[in-house]
Amino acid sequence: MKKLALHWQILIGMALGVGWGMMSSSLGLNQFTADWISPFGTIFINLLKLIAVPLVLASLITGIASLSDISKLSRIGTKTIVTYLATTVLAVVLGLVLVNIFEPGKAFSPQKREEFKEQYAATTVEKSSDAAAVEQLGPLQPIVDIVPENLFMAMTNNGSMLQVIFFALFFGIALILIPPDKAAPVSAFFDGVNTAILKIVDIIMMVAPYGVFALLAGLVVDFAGDDPGAALELLMVLGYYCIVVIIGLLLMIFAVYPILVVVIGKSNYKHFLKGIFPAQMLAFSTSSSAATLPATMECAEKNLGINKEITSFVLPLGATVNMDGTSLYQSVAAVFIAQAYGIELDLAAQLGIVMTATLASIGAAAVPGAGIVMLVIVLQQAGIPIEGIALILAPDRLLDMMRTTVNITGDATVAMMVARTEGQLHPPTEIKVK
Ligand code: ASP
Repeated sequence: MKKLALHWQILIGMALGVGWGMMSSSLGLNQFTADWISPFGTIFINLLKLIAVPLVLASLITGIASLSDISKLSRIGTKTIVTYLATTVLAVVLGLVLVNIFEPGKAFSPQKREEFKEQYAATTVEKSSDAAAVEQLGPLQPIVDIVPENLFMAMTNNGSMLQVIFFALFFGIALILIPPDKAAPVSAFFDGVNTAILKIVDIIMMVAPYGVFALLAGLVVDFAGDDPGAALELLMVLGYYCIVVIIGLLLMIFAVYPILVVVIGKSNYKHFLKGIFPAQMLAFSTSSSAATLPATMECAEKNLGINKEITSFVLPLGATVNMDGTSLYQSVAAVFIAQAYGIELDLAAQLGIVMTATLASIGAAAVPGAGIVMLVIVLQQAGIPIEGIALILAPDRLLDMMRTTVNITGDATVAMMVARTEGQLHPPTEIKVK
């Protein structure tokens, strides 16, 4: 019998988890679920957290070091990177605007939010004296904090992921600058580490249906207690949160990219969408920009008429560093969790999210579930409880499929823009200019 695709398995795991949670609430099996099922959900989350640091280190170092051919393509390179950054920041800002308008996290009932707050307060009492100390520090402290004094401390629980990213960027740039014969073995090493870590992500994703089942069962039980009706509230709020993310993703595809393709790419957006559609479908079903890359390249060359010289550089780079969908999702998810926990984020905190979500999406590997792993960074940096990830994990696969579709569409859009400005765009997507 043919094996069911992973996303179906996960959807089934989700449904069964919710079903189990509701059943155990009404049958009085909550203790059983808490003792024997929820821990597997915790293990699943721990696995995700476990690989976050090595994932950032290896994928960022490999990504930056592979830019060494920028020497040849420095103009195209600069153009590409600047455009990638700009679209990512735009996506984060769009996400922030939407989540602040719709406030999905505040859709929880006041009691529920009070409970979240209390849970959170209980785990952070000991941190409050540190918080007071932080307030005494000068305005440049956030920048000072990005630079670690000790790499290993940065990689521990109390360290900061931004420091790890800083080191990885610095190290990657140094690899480009040193003689190639010295850099090659180091790059090859990190490339190997990166591949191994992606394999680990793969393996973790294989158990995702079970992890999602356990998490959802635990979540529903925690949430509902002995009142199965309360589980409905959770589902409704999560549904609302998903809708906000999806509105953002749709705006990227139907408002932001069309403007870029038409105004800068000077091409017909309908042709563009039609041309890239097969790759979008693959992105949707694999949730992996990396797995979709060959299809993206083929569509860009054959259907959109973008020269290979552009696609071969712009698209692979984009698959690893340009994730508009992921960054948009991260900003919505982070603020959603903050809202649920009753944490007010001021403008400075939201600007911090723009920075970390941009970096986190750049650092996210082009594989399923990478976005939610890297969300840890955004949460950590903004002082939002990481435990909140449990809240949004359940619908994550569905959102992953959608954000990956946006990710590769963004890559193709930028390829189109760069190709146009470089005179490397051929029919069939030319608009007939009168
Ligand atoms: N799955 C996404 C991608 O490959 C990354 C993510 O999890 O957001 O583009």
